[in-house]
Amino acid sequence: MGREFDWLENRAGLKPDSIAIIDAEQNKKWTYSEIYSRTESLAGWLNGQGIQKGDRVALLAPNDISYFDLLFACGKIGAIFVPVNWRLSIEEMKYILEDCTPKIVAYHSQFSDTVDQLENNAFKSLRINGEQYNQVAVSSLRVNYNELLNETDPLAMIYTGGTTGKPKGVVLSHQSILWNGLNTVVSWNLSEEDITLTYMPLFHTGGLNALSIPLLMTGGTVVLGNDYDPRKAIEYLNHYRCTIVLLVPTMYHMMTETSQFQQSSFPYMKVFLSGGAPCPLDIYEKFKKKGLLFKEGYGLTEAGPNNFFIKPEEADDKRGSVGKPMVFNKIKIIKENGLEAGPHEVGELLVKGKHSFSCYWNNEKATQAALKNGWLHTGDLAKRDKEGYYYIVGRKKDMIITGGENVYPLEVEHWLSSHPQINEAAVIGIPDRKWGETVSAFISLKGDQTLSTADLKEYCGCRLGRYKIPKHIFFVKELPKTPVGKIDKKKLKMLGRQLTQ
Ligand code: ATP
Repeated sequence: MGREFDWLENRAGLKPDSIAIIDAEQNKKWTYSEIYSRTESLAGWLNGQGIQKGDRVALLAPNDISYFDLLFACGKIGAIFVPVNWRLSIEEMKYILEDCTPKIVAYHSQFSDTVDQLENNAFKSLRINGEQYNQVAVSSLRVNYNELLNETDPLAMIYTGGTTGKPKGVVLSHQSILWNGLNTVVSWNLSEEDITLTYMPLFHTGGLNALSIPLLMTGGTVVLGNDYDPRKAIEYLNHYRCTIVLLVPTMYHMMTETSQFQQSSFPYMKVFLSGGAPCPLDIYEKFKKKGLLFKEGYGLTEAGPNNFFIKPEEADDKRGSVGKPMVFNKIKIIKENGLEAGPHEVGELLVKGKHSFSCYWNNEKATQAALKNGWLHTGDLAKRDKEGYYYIVGRKKDMIITGGENVYPLEVEHWLSSHPQINEAAVIGIPDRKWGETVSAFISLKGDQTLSTADLKEYCGCRLGRYKIPKHIFFVKELPKTPVGKIDKKKLKMLGRQLTQ
């Protein structure tokens, strides 16, 4: 392919003095030419440290410039960038580092103790905040070896959230990141005028790939935030004149509860995107009431993450839909019997395209299970309406079979979260001798509201079939969350089992 996947060089040539990245917490800005120059310099430094094509370079840092420095620097010399989720336990991080065996672990000083605990002779460490790094980033001998690279060579590896088991290293090639960017830019019509706020962690595909990289491709601006605070997020959206943002539903939930949300008209925002987990319908309503466009996206680390798009003018009619497939990917839904699903039939969602991942690192078995004939089996259930709009129904393994009937937790969760006294709801299946599984709900209530189990069951009865009404209802102060803010169903399933034993 040559060097056309090294788009940052040309982008910097076209827009040398425009602002590419703003660190909102530190009030620092970098232009496109500065970013590109740092990339070349860091590539030279990595090369000087003996990093070669295929070697891994890990990073432990809050959202900051180092993610872009190292991603693009690795891209120049063919190394693989591995951003590590710093919210994991030491044991989990050890697991990841033993799996990907990086030669360098770059880290922010707030994780010095962590790195001390992880330290072994297998890798060198590099502190990314301090004079040494600044020198490295601006004055190393510059190198650019990407003539020797191929578009299918790995560029980054992102470990999945572990929602479904041990984290797996998702290998993303230059091509996957490029085509996800193209898909996103074309669908959302992004331009150099666009500005996004990235509060989603950059070690997660939602932070790095969903909007940040696509916006750098268009010459737009990426504003970085840390330690999500809904009030600060609103302030940054307004102050930096952001036009597009992606947050997980929990973050929107927190945002819409603030008085600042009620007061702000978000004059620059074109669209608020939600992703990573199902979004309760009442959040749509809150944005709609303010005349703001809110859209639910669907994605996963292994494919993009961006896969669907909905035209703004259709978003309202098709509430709850993630839209239609983006331009450069193929989507199909396959039923249990292996046949393609017709309109409104539920089946597993399959995705194919150049934005897809290459393999799971060191895990041929998992790769073969997920990728068949180029089709990624997402493990998610979906359906399509007659007009071709897709709806995510839930994770395949979360589907509850109770007394032989299929229950999709999402349907029950949507109804529960529309209850005025309910803050958040999660529905899981708990093994049961008689029913196979029982539908069970974990509920957190708003403020100091109270609600009885009997009243809640009655409320469910007005809308849901009898077998879908939760048999067990547990009221909790707060639902447990994964490091990226998704409801942690693995924990809830364990808790549910304990509580019903
Ligand atoms: P692991 O693969 O270890 O379980 P994870 O599933 O959290 O971790 P991610 O790639 O972060 O990995 O998340 C992708 C998953 O998030 C999808 O497979 C899907 O289950 C869920 N998801 C994403 N967007 C939506 C959405 N709009 N509605 C429902 N679920 C969604």
